[in-house]
Amino acid sequence: MAPEMGGRVAVVVGGSVAGLACAHAVAAAGWKAVVLEKAAGPAAGGGTGAGLGLDAQSMETLARWIPGWGLDAATLPLAVDLNRATDSETKAARTLTRDEGFDFRAAHWGELHRRLHEALPAAVTVHWGHQFLSFEVSDLDDGGGKRGGVVATARLLGTGETVEVAGDLLVAADGCTSSIRRRFLPDLKLRYSGYCAWRGVFDFTGKESSGIITGIRRAYPELGSCLYFDLAEKTHAVLYELPGNRLNWLWYINGPEPELTGSSVTMKVSDATLAGMQEDAERVWSPELARLIRETAEPFVNVIYDADPLPRLSWAGGSVALVGDAAHPTTPHGLRSTNMSVHDARVLGECLARWGQTPPPRALAEYEAARLPVVAAQVLHARRLGRLKQGLPVEDGDTGAFDAWAATAEDALQLRQRGMPYFGGAPTVDGGSL
Ligand SMILES: Cc1cc2nc3c(=O)[nH]c(=O)nc-3n(C[C@H](O)[C@H](O)[C@H](O)COP(=O)(O)OP(=O)(O)OC[C@H]3O[C@@H](n4cnc5c(N)ncnc54)[C@H](O)[C@@H]3O)c2cc1C
Repeated sequence: MAPEMGGRVAVVVGGSVAGLACAHAVAAAGWKAVVLEKAAGPAAGGGTGAGLGLDAQSMETLARWIPGWGLDAATLPLAVDLNRATDSETKAARTLTRDEGFDFRAAHWGELHRRLHEALPAAVTVHWGHQFLSFEVSDLDDGGGKRGGVVATARLLGTGETVEVAGDLLVAADGCTSSIRRRFLPDLKLRYSGYCAWRGVFDFTGKESSGIITGIRRAYPELGSCLYFDLAEKTHAVLYELPGNRLNWLWYINGPEPELTGSSVTMKVSDATLAGMQEDAERVWSPELARLIRETAEPFVNVIYDADPLPRLSWAGGSVALVGDAAHPTTPHGLRSTNMSVHDARVLGECLARWGQTPPPRALAEYEAARLPVVAAQVLHARRLGRLKQGLPVEDGDTGAFDAWAATAEDALQLRQRGMPYFGGAPTVDGGSL
């Protein structure tokens, strides 16, 4: 597949949130985009993935790309960020911090992905079932003369056939285990956080008046507008409501790094492991949360990794841009992964638009200058939040750790989401702050 005469083309590897967001952003900049995604098709909606939190800047950006979404109806407010300490013996709880100026929204991953896909403009082509294999930086000839570019090779998973796709720019949106990043940084290793997360979504459609739901709403009366963090000894849980009668929970458990197969950070678990976790939940958490955990169908385990900040986001002489988890694998404690992906895409698009028909390197230099300081600071802050909440030493060599029951009100302020660097919004190009 050769680039078309005239307009510039971005080859985007990965068709998850970062890849589809980039496709929107480069199309808004007047480029074409070809997305290569190994999955067979787009998310079906509510059936894939779990919950995520969108900040105000992401909401504003997504509203540009998905004009008909009605973002307010498709998300629920997370207006309050609440941290509480739980005593596992007595099950008593006390408030550590309460921030009523949080201003996030809760969305379902599958719903966001589906809407991003459905709203793609005509300038974007998505090739599902295409596994990216490699790329070369090479001259392109569109009949109007030679210019620098990239040629990506992909395998069609259905037939085994190999195809080449040419463009002016390669956008690596291939997730936290990115093979494109590995080509430039072969020694960069993901860093195991020291814990894994059990996750689940409880669908209470038709069960609004059931004992489990009335109980959980009594114990968590602000569900529907609050992001709850419960901290017990060396562990913490997260609970919030999603649109469509769903409750999203996560429970982080310290332990040695599990062995993973393949490139997924999601683990399959045996029935015995699941039963053990459900028993532990009774011991650690309130009866209401333990019951919710026990009655959730098919909870799964995410092994939690991040990576030290990358030295660069633009490679191969400005022919390759890294975005999303490929650019900054992060722990989830600052609700950053999806927000950073949306901001990466927006800024990349703005930089491409600003530099018009100029070859990409200048635009990519500007993208890197805008995003690198932001994502580096946010990844490190999320890492710190996770270690605090898990009662782990924050820095190498620390002897003490955060203790939720002993913490003073001042100590507890570090748990708030608003401590995240650039909490009020990251610099953008069209916002005039660059
Ligand atoms: C199915 C799925 C469900 C998710 N659910 C949630 C959720 O509920 N909550 C949440 O906070 N986060 C979820 N995430 C993660 C979330 O999307 C990311 O953390 C964040 O939004 C950054 O997105 P990303 O696009 O950079 O990375 P990812 O979402 O990891 O996407 C990377 C994409 O690249 C594709 N890819 C990788 N290698 C190749 C290759 N060689 N060729 C072609 N394609 C390739 C993958 O198939 C994947 O679609 C989910 C991700 C996926 C893929």
